[in-house]
Amino acid sequence: MDKNFGENLERRTDKFDEKLMYLITEQIKLQKEYEDQLEIIEKGKQELLKIAESAVIENHSTEIEKREPMVYDDFFEDKNPEQNLPNEAGIQPKVPNGGNESRRKFLKNLGKIVLGTGATAIAGKKVINYIEKKSENKKEIEAEKKDSGPEVIEVNHKREIIPWYKYKDLTPKLEFRYKSIIPELKIEGLKMVGKTSANGASGIEGKILRSLRFQNVANAVEGKYNLPKNLIVAMIMQESTGMDLLPNGADDGGFGLCHMQGDIAREFHLKTYGNCNERRCKNGHAIKLRNLIEENNHDRKLVVDKDDRLHPILNLDAAGRMIACYMAQPPITGGKLAPLHLDALQSAVARYSGAKNYKDYWKNVSANIKLLNNKKGVEKVRKIFNAKNEKLIINGGPGNFDIYIKKSEEQNINYGLESYKKGKYYESSNSKKMAKKYKNSFK
Ligand SMILES: [Zn+2]
Repeated sequence: MDKNFGENLERRTDKFDEKLMYLITEQIKLQKEYEDQLEIIEKGKQELLKIAESAVIENHSTEIEKREPMVYDDFFEDKNPEQNLPNEAGIQPKVPNGGNESRRKFLKNLGKIVLGTGATAIAGKKVINYIEKKSENKKEIEAEKKDSGPEVIEVNHKREIIPWYKYKDLTPKLEFRYKSIIPELKIEGLKMVGKTSANGASGIEGKILRSLRFQNVANAVEGKYNLPKNLIVAMIMQESTGMDLLPNGADDGGFGLCHMQGDIAREFHLKTYGNCNERRCKNGHAIKLRNLIEENNHDRKLVVDKDDRLHPILNLDAAGRMIACYMAQPPITGGKLAPLHLDALQSAVARYSGAKNYKDYWKNVSANIKLLNNKKGVEKVRKIFNAKNEKLIINGGPGNFDIYIKKSEEQNINYGLESYKKGKYYESSNSKKMAKKYKNSFK
């Protein structure tokens, strides 16, 4: 026997202990790393669930119909962002979109891979890639938060930040298109303000009076997409003057409280009469729809199924989505409007109205917003209306301006306004900036 056996054994035992300690330390280190990684994933939880939810919306929309490629304001030289932006699609299959239960399962399985329960180098690499991707996302989101400055508007609803191209798919899912919840108005002796023609109501008071009947819908839309208050009412005044079934004067296929041409309406997933998909209708859809409206004595509930643009909520929501979508894109820096250095809101309005009409459109719409916000415009209409309507009877009782507007707004409940308000709320980093910028300037 080796005489040094005892000594060697002791040395080996020391070595063994040392090795064991080393392994334990390594294991603790790995465990710590694993916990850090889990923490990153945990923090990414909200983002993941958001991505999963928006993926669901996207999947739904592709089922609706195949659409023509987008038609954009091609007269602007600045390029719109590519439609196939790299998005979060790559990690969607791994995202648990259920409740906590599936998330827990997900983390547990991920834990198994990290801890090496049957782990392979490839699985490990996948996890690392995945975690890196999440960290990048986190950085981007934080950068955006920093960029947009302090939150200034009071938000009662949690808002989801979405990129510009997603607004097109957000067609509201109303519980019903029309349901007689509030009985129809019975009005006697009503004398409206302002003359009307094929071009709508004349005079600013006539426009305010008619448009205010849809203010509750418009304000709900503005709230949903984080747009300046009364922007959509101001656009109704400019577009249809509040005459909701009035086709575009030129009979070119524009319909709705906010007039929309067939192709643009379709781009934002509205159903149009005869599936009209034209910028200027040359296939008779516009004339046929106009005739249908006349045959039904301009009774909105009877024609509201023929074309989404005739539905007050679907139409105004689409107008709001268009502005939100155009505003989420970078402001216009090229083309003939470049010298005006438009901000994101002005750029959105320019994309909506077209470059040619922009200057007048912006001037009128911003003036309208001020008239609505500072109450002066409304006060003037109230005086004129009440002076003309001393004998007004609404639902069997005496009526006046405020009763007329309130009762008219209530009718919008029959078109699904309450279910519309229950839906999700959205914003973009530009909409946050613009809400701040215009908070006090539209007064
Ligand atoms: Zn057509």
